[in-house]
Amino acid sequence: MTGDRRDDRRDDRRDDRRDDRRDDTCAYALFLDFDGTLVDIAPTPEEVVVEAGLPTILDALRSRFGGAVALVSGRRIAALDAFLAPFLFDAGGLHGLEIRAGGRMLERPALDSAPLRAAATSLRKRLLAWPGAFVEDKEHTIAVHWRLAPQAGAALADVMEEIVAGLGAGWRLQNGKAVAEILPAHADKGRAVEALLAQEVYRGRKPVFFGDDMTDEDAIRIVNARGGVSVNVGPRPSAAAFRLPDPRAARALLARWAQEAPRDIAADLTG
Ligand SMILES: [Mg+2]
Repeated sequence: MTGDRRDDRRDDRRDDRRDDRRDDTCAYALFLDFDGTLVDIAPTPEEVVVEAGLPTILDALRSRFGGAVALVSGRRIAALDAFLAPFLFDAGGLHGLEIRAGGRMLERPALDSAPLRAAATSLRKRLLAWPGAFVEDKEHTIAVHWRLAPQAGAALADVMEEIVAGLGAGWRLQNGKAVAEILPAHADKGRAVEALLAQEVYRGRKPVFFGDDMTDEDAIRIVNARGGVSVNVGPRPSAAAFRLPDPRAARALLARWAQEAPRDIAADLTG
């Protein structure tokens, strides 16, 4: 019965198509914060340790997701590149002030950061009172870290409020885990996600976002509004729909997806 056999083949093809649809790598784009999400937080930003296999896992994920994988970080893109060598990933750096996709810089921070230089100088002087606290100058943003001087946290948060108020309307304060950062008011990880989603390889895909800190809530809001999958890494209260306990769990899940395409991303995060 040739006719029946042909029908069987058609059924097989239909099954194949169903299989394609069940593979979430065609429907989603992956956005990953770096510190506290892919790598454990260290006493200072320079001291984070990138697990040996991580760059290769991210590269494999990029192939799996058709190129739609990006890092979204408060760090400069150049710093991410150094940590993840030899690979260059799409990225939103400096909370979205820098955006790179397909090897092309789409956005760079404005060059005039003179007001910030003055603020950094005055901040350094004031920090002498709190040994262990230090300034991280990222040229277009400045952060003060007090992980090594936890007793200084409340006072330093006040100092940063005062400095950002002095800078005027173009600047805002971003608080985080034992860190406060002054950045241009329009710097926003949600904007970075939106800008990347408008790029060709990302277009039409739903965002999956992994983050761990307050600055990630801007991205999580956008991801939730677009019907994506938002994941908070760690115990912090968050608007994210899903939670993973720590960066180790995030790395393990990503390694699994690199090895075998996820059929149902949300189910993997629930189970
Ligand atoms: Mg983080």
